[in-house]
Amino acid sequence: MIKNSAAEMSAALSSGATTSVALTQAHLDRISEVDGKVHAFLYVDTQGALEQAKKVDDARARGEKLGPLAGVPLALKDVLVQKGVPTTCGSKILEGWRPPYDSTVVTNLKNAGVVILGKTNMDEFAMGSSTENSAYGPTHNPWDLTRIPGGSGGGSSAALAAFEAPLAIGTDTGGSIRQPAAVTGTVGVKPTYGGVSRYGLVAFSSSLDQAGPCARTVLDTALLHEVIAGHDPRDSTSINAPVPQVVAAAKSGDVKGMKIGVVKELNGDGYQAGVRQRFEESLELLAQAGAEIVEVSAPNFEYALAAYYLIAPSECSSNLARFDAMRYGLRVGDTDGASAESVMNMTREVGFGREVKRRILLGTYALSSGYYDAYYGSAQKVRTLITQDFNKAFEKCDVMVSPTCPTTAFKIGEKANDPLAMYLNDIATIPVNMAGIGGMSVPSGVAPEDGLPVGFQIMSPVMQDQRMYSVGAALEAALLSKWGAPLLSQAPALGGVA
Ligand code: GLN
Repeated sequence: MIKNSAAEMSAALSSGATTSVALTQAHLDRISEVDGKVHAFLYVDTQGALEQAKKVDDARARGEKLGPLAGVPLALKDVLVQKGVPTTCGSKILEGWRPPYDSTVVTNLKNAGVVILGKTNMDEFAMGSSTENSAYGPTHNPWDLTRIPGGSGGGSSAALAAFEAPLAIGTDTGGSIRQPAAVTGTVGVKPTYGGVSRYGLVAFSSSLDQAGPCARTVLDTALLHEVIAGHDPRDSTSINAPVPQVVAAAKSGDVKGMKIGVVKELNGDGYQAGVRQRFEESLELLAQAGAEIVEVSAPNFEYALAAYYLIAPSECSSNLARFDAMRYGLRVGDTDGASAESVMNMTREVGFGREVKRRILLGTYALSSGYYDAYYGSAQKVRTLITQDFNKAFEKCDVMVSPTCPTTAFKIGEKANDPLAMYLNDIATIPVNMAGIGGMSVPSGVAPEDGLPVGFQIMSPVMQDQRMYSVGAALEAALLSKWGAPLLSQAPALGGVA
């Protein structure tokens, strides 16, 4: 059962073929069996999960009407708060903190009867592309345990690829849902900014952060999308409009007559040969399914990475000021007579990791008087130009596409000491966040040179998220009929669970 999709699990629950308690226990057993090797989870909430599962089973037995994902287990990225459950954001500074409230995403999951198995590993405060920046050690890619699972949400994507959970929640500030999905052969969606509430999502860069659904199939991500999305008065940036009909789009997978714009600037020499090969093949399959492939240009994407690494650190330097040793988690040096300032300094010195400190320093510098206009101000102008590029391109097409990342999963340690090389992973994903539009990564096969998964990125205009689901579902269906089995069944290591 753990190899099935969430939709199949849901059908088995409705027909009485299994119970949520049994399904949850099967996933907890799988976690005990393999997570010592994968390290997808920072915390497994065995008791809470089984209690929630029992509640759903009881409600079903009483004949209550339940949502489509009721009783299905899920892995939650450790950057979203869940009442009473440890939340660390992959940082030592939050060690021991148990939040006193639920994030809106968690409230929506609980209301839908989704069973939360536990919290997944991540780069500290979501800063990174490999999950190596976690203070609790790296997560390993189930395709090859010596490789990274992507980041920052590598725990969530690895949990899916290792069949430890059929559903997961990620967050995406510059690519942290889509890049891990690409390198683990799973599906990940960054909804339109404002489509999913940020209330209770520990802020990294508030104008870019967005939570979204992760799963092994396009339909499963759509089902989860509709559970977590919707207007929330507690988030001032939440969009007050109906949720796009993503489940219907994923079910129909109809791309006939759709115009798919290939972004000229995101498909060049910097991309691994096998990544480009899979991308071209996916385009052909979409054309065969009735879509029209056109080329579009976005000249300002070239500056997206540089602008992102000014805007995101600037916002982070302000957001992370709340970790002051007084309100949350860790407190170091609190001896008699120690000043508040020295306790704060010592706590931050010990509690924050290198990358987080680097970002705080960068951001503080970019915002300082005398440099503000030159750095932060210019970056904001670039952001507007990128949005204009998207708007212009969307006049010629319904969705835009590119490879999700330039390469397949690299080795753990390979880029750990080279921040720029690490940042370059997000070259194709960052523009989406800058413009606040929707982005999805769908598996497009494995690269012939290394046998590792490649992701296909689909981008759709603001609040037109259903379009990327139509294209994602069409590609998924075409590839499935070509391969005869889902991609993950080809995974040589833990993904290929017997
Ligand atoms: N890798 C990017 C960064 O380090 C994006 C992270 C994210 O989306 N949270 O900032």
